Amino acid sequence: MAEKIVVLGGGASALGAAYELAKHNFNTTIIEKGKNIGGLASSYKIDGFYIERFYHHFFPTDELVFQLAKELGIKDKFIWRKTKMGFYYKNKLYGFTSPLDILRFKPLAFMDRIKFGLSMLKIAKNRDYGNLDKVSAEKWLIGVFGRDAYEKIFRPMLKIKFAMSIDNASAAFVYGRLHARAKSRSKSLVSEKLGYMEGGYNSLIKALYNRIRAKSEIIYNSDIVEIRYSKDRYIIKISKSNKIKIIEADYVINTLPLEIFSRIAKNFPGKLMHCIKKIKYQAVICATIGLKRRLSDYYWINVSSADLPFHGVIEHTNFIPSRNYKNFHIVYIFNYVSPEHEFWKVNESSIKKAYLSGLQKMFPHMNRKDILWFKLSKERYATPIFLQGYEENMKKIENARNLYFAGSFKIYPNSRNVNNVIRTGIDAAKDLLKENNL
Ligand SMILES: Cc1cc2nc3c(=O)[nH]c(=O)nc-3n(C[C@H](O)[C@H](O)[C@H](O)COP(=O)(O)OP(=O)(O)OC[C@H]3O[C@@H](n4cnc5c(N)ncnc54)[C@H](O)[C@@H]3O)c2cc1C
Repeated sequence: MAEKIVVLGGGASALGAAYELAKHNFNTTIIEKGKNIGGLASSYKIDGFYIERFYHHFFPTDELVFQLAKELGIKDKFIWRKTKMGFYYKNKLYGFTSPLDILRFKPLAFMDRIKFGLSMLKIAKNRDYGNLDKVSAEKWLIGVFGRDAYEKIFRPMLKIKFAMSIDNASAAFVYGRLHARAKSRSKSLVSEKLGYMEGGYNSLIKALYNRIRAKSEIIYNSDIVEIRYSKDRYIIKISKSNKIKIIEADYVINTLPLEIFSRIAKNFPGKLMHCIKKIKYQAVICATIGLKRRLSDYYWINVSSADLPFHGVIEHTNFIPSRNYKNFHIVYIFNYVSPEHEFWKVNESSIKKAYLSGLQKMFPHMNRKDILWFKLSKERYATPIFLQGYEENMKKIENARNLYFAGSFKIYPNSRNVNNVIRTGIDAAKDLLKENNL
């Protein structure tokens, strides 16, 4: 009997792994808790169109995705657009796209605005983050941009990404994010160009799925509750329709967030589990709203106002026109939160109420009657938290006993985008094939 390869989880990393294995003519079994493939990159289907559950765009640096799109015959679907960014600071909306916007950003002293622009240019030019893994993001940002810019611009942003762990955030990760963002700008930093795909990320997910389909069995609605190693094989316990089922595997690629993996993994080496348990994840609560009218000119607005219950507003239809969405104006509101945040304790209608009154406060001209639909996605394990010393620990999480790791925990210090996580899946599959002479 052919050896069996099982992929845990069915998001973008899993699709990357299954794609690589299918290329080499190997069958795969993917086990997914949800009823769809795509994980964090999956979409809602509304009125005949697809829209991501969490805002998504491509960066000009997403080279693997461009290559994949060629292989999948969808390279003509890319759309590139200049986007405008805003910064909502203490109840006032500022432009935050061009150097001129920065020069006009009154909350900062004039010399700090100049310093900000020059430092961003420097970061755009240099990809190498040097020895920043163990350096505190706060210390590094204050050194580069000055204390005032840190307090007014970066601290609120760090708070968004790191919530409870802001003091230990890693400078290497912040550098990676700033570099990716700066690289998506024109040489003079005047504008930012971001990418999308006709039909959204669903087009990419669907094309990958169609390519792997013949070689992959996808078991949906199946919660993996245990994985253990026994007699040279993996025994995977899944719960499906309240029944426990066992799946055996010779090789496993794990794409589940490591906090989940650490709960389901039995009899794994203690040293490995120690490093895995050190990696924690941030949650996200994201609303997608369909409106009759647009709210602003901006695609992306960072929000730094203590009295608002979210940290970002993204007006998707200022990027991809509303005519693609039956003329709905689509707006995301999001908040990265800790697992202790009150939003985990209340029901969806309380979050909806809080989000909409926050939005109304930000845009007093918004008419509540213009809100046509509201959807909410909550994801407890949205992104790993990249703390100081993360890289050293991450490197210790090595493939063991025919178990291979993929997923966003492996992309540090780069951005945890779809491009990079697909790469982790492909790399895990390559390692599996190489190490076992398959
Ligand atoms: C708010 C937000 C905005 C983003 N914006 C962008 C963007 O603009 N551009 C970009 O490229 N990327 C963006 N990303 C990142 C991107 O979506 C993710 O990095 C990527 O989708 C992660 O894929 P993954 O396969 O590693 O993980 P996941 O998508 O999390 O996949 C893991 C899968 O495992 C399943 N699972 C979990 N537990 C179990 C279990 N016990 N049993 C079975 N299955 C299980 C889950 O249902 C899920 O499908 C964004 C992410 C978020 C949260």
